[in-house]
Amino acid sequence: MAFLLLHIDRVLTPTEEIRDVGILVEDTTIREIGPRAALQAPPGAREVRAAGMTAVPGFVDVHIHGAGGHDIMEGTGEALGAVAGTVARHGTTSFLATTVTASPETTCRSVEGIARYIEANCFTWNNLPCAEILGIHFEGPFISAARRGVHPPEWLALPSAELLRRFLSAARGKGRILTLAPELPGALPCMDAALKAGLVVAHGHTDATYEQARAAIARGARHAVHVYNAMRPFSHRDAGVIGAVLTSPEVTAELIADGVHVDEAAMRVLLQAKGVDRTILVSDGTAATGMPDGKYMLGTFEVTVAGGVCRNAEGKLAGSTLTLDRALRNIVALGVPLADAVRMLTLNPARLLGLEGKKGVLRRGADADIAVLDESLRVRNVWTRGSPLQS
Ligand SMILES: [Zn+2]
Repeated sequence: MAFLLLHIDRVLTPTEEIRDVGILVEDTTIREIGPRAALQAPPGAREVRAAGMTAVPGFVDVHIHGAGGHDIMEGTGEALGAVAGTVARHGTTSFLATTVTASPETTCRSVEGIARYIEANCFTWNNLPCAEILGIHFEGPFISAARRGVHPPEWLALPSAELLRRFLSAARGKGRILTLAPELPGALPCMDAALKAGLVVAHGHTDATYEQARAAIARGARHAVHVYNAMRPFSHRDAGVIGAVLTSPEVTAELIADGVHVDEAAMRVLLQAKGVDRTILVSDGTAATGMPDGKYMLGTFEVTVAGGVCRNAEGKLAGSTLTLDRALRNIVALGVPLADAVRMLTLNPARLLGLEGKKGVLRRGADADIAVLDESLRVRNVWTRGSPLQS
């Protein structure tokens, strides 16, 4: 058994702040966490000191399409490893592999590849620890043509419990989130099938009115993807899906905090409406994440990245190049206390997935997924399931 004792100045668990802390890791799990004076290193334990640093749980990204030059839809071990390895360098220690609308055959092939990768328990890439894929987020094809963003129109489909069952059988129990437009015909029975299979149902790429969105929430929808983006706009006499999401305490809201997708004032509105508990920061990252400007694939179509902003051939925003460490710094720059911001990328997404005992927290029994940040909130080291990126 391998023990590691990490000595660190400050920990945000993230619900508690503890100073002068020891984190004792046994193999992949946090065995003890508490004041350093009370923690003894077992014989043979490796000890690491990180003076002047803050440890937070590794980030959990519930919406990411790619990174490091590869797209999730490639579905190969090489592609998924590149995504998992790239985001780990930015503090993300687990994520949901997120699909983009494609033909049913393409989607099934990708999803089978992702399921195979998860089952292989591969936690390294290029001999370094990488992030863990927790499951699959289906974004599309059951979305609104009016709010499709860059999802290819030819493969949009009306919500269908039968098609969903095909996807879920290809996913072999790894499906976690289904994003759909709840106003479409067939949406409610499709939602029921997703809920029955244990998925979280999310509003997204939707033209739903306030009433339609409220009906979906009453039926069990609990999440909303990249709020404001690809949604019927909010207006004072037509509050729409945004009005319903912002005023429904049972719904969590994703925010792409890259400063491009959502204006600063709109970010503040969302933060005030959803609060510390119900805001979830996501990357919506593409293959271009962690790469220079240029041309990349998003699913089956090409996108161009200039100045770090990712657009399709028509100039529409096509995902981001955001990493979650940058999202954290952007939210803190708005005046959000660090512990609250950390919660939005750790505990809140873990709780959405029902994994808050294991992921997104630093406590006894949780996976040893730890990001070490310096004073300027740059990631200095990362442990994924007890393995450090830098030893
Ligand atoms: Zn989207």
